[in-house]
Amino acid sequence: MLRHLMYKIKSTGPITVAEYMKEVLTNPAKGYYMHRDMLGEKGDFITSPEISQIFGELLGIWFISEWMATGKNVAFQLVELGPGRGTLMGDILRVFSQLGSVLKNCDISIHLVEVSQNLSELQALTLTEAKIPLEQNPESLVYMKGVTKSGLPISWYRDLQDVPKGYSFFLAHEFFDVLPVHKFQKTPQGWREVLIDIDPQVSGKLRFVLAPCVTPAQAFLQHDEIRDHVEVCPDAGVIIQELSERIALTGGAALIADYGHDGTKTDTFRGFCGHELHDVLIAPGTADLTADVDFSYLRRMAQGKVASLGPTEQQTFLKNMGIDVRLKVLFNKSDEPSVRQQLLQGYDMLMNPQKMGERFNFFALLPHERLHGRSHHINACQSRPSASPVAGFGELAWQ
Ligand code: SAH
Repeated sequence: MLRHLMYKIKSTGPITVAEYMKEVLTNPAKGYYMHRDMLGEKGDFITSPEISQIFGELLGIWFISEWMATGKNVAFQLVELGPGRGTLMGDILRVFSQLGSVLKNCDISIHLVEVSQNLSELQALTLTEAKIPLEQNPESLVYMKGVTKSGLPISWYRDLQDVPKGYSFFLAHEFFDVLPVHKFQKTPQGWREVLIDIDPQVSGKLRFVLAPCVTPAQAFLQHDEIRDHVEVCPDAGVIIQELSERIALTGGAALIADYGHDGTKTDTFRGFCGHELHDVLIAPGTADLTADVDFSYLRRMAQGKVASLGPTEQQTFLKNMGIDVRLKVLFNKSDEPSVRQQLLQGYDMLMNPQKMGERFNFFALLPHERLHGRSHHINACQSRPSASPVAGFGELAWQ
């Protein structure tokens, strides 16, 4: 990867941080995400669904609760972006099976957006019924198809654009943080983009430099930006626009969870290897690269087509979803001390403000009618029908 990047820089000049991130993470031949399982204790980082089954179960409840609040459509697609090992989807589908009586007669299909062949195979192993062979077609936009353990159709795509348009619920957990960011620095000459170049002093080393003049990506900066260092993720903007258009057109919702900020942080681009911070420019392709999600940018990119909720801290969201009740049920169900201890440790990791409780945030996109009632169907002198609160952002209330 380092040789490839140096060759690229030698032939066309310094590259943007976004180009670097994209090459390092998803280059088809050597990209970090393409050929390994980086999740879990033996990997480079661990995510909430890998820590506790309760996380996925509560998210499953969220989708059912939104499906109920919006009129129990006869069918929906559940679409996950960047499903990792498939653990989160597995926990959600288990809840769907357990609440089969609620969802009966609803036609559900599962759609996964995943660029990594290796991870898509792991996802299939976790989620599909082994007795039914997978249909694979690398040339097709739907590169893999199968049937889940609970009998639902499941399909894999490389791009959200290729997922059929239709009433859908979308989920993205720790997905937006791996999308490439451009970095900018305020200088006496105005904004300059941070680029990556070959270090002339040390052989085989890369270094950050500032672009000598204005670069095209500068168009993404806000005119009233007050920070002196900014990261912008145009790919996240494109995905949010696509999600917003789909939700405005057909209904449904998107739930996005990630670490991030509301337009306040500056320099968050970093690497992780073996659960330790890793210099982003050293041994590219061997460590995860990530940048905090700027939720204010996501909100702006929705362009008012849909309503947004959040960012709300993970501890608040999970509390509202009833994590304490679920913990109690699971705790009382097992008298195995190691299982009980694991449940408590998992809860602490997800909820403790010093661990994941504050750093991770939930953000949702919803049709305007979901929050304000169907205002266009009633005349001005009638009061609006009150919409039920959105679970997680308010307390979960089963209707
Ligand atoms: N959601 C999972 C995994 C997070 S890791 C969890 O929380 O455990 C990020 C995931 O996004 C991986 O599955 C990775 O292969 C996928 N990914 C990264 N870049 C992507 C892209 N541009 N398009 C689709 N998937 C991508």
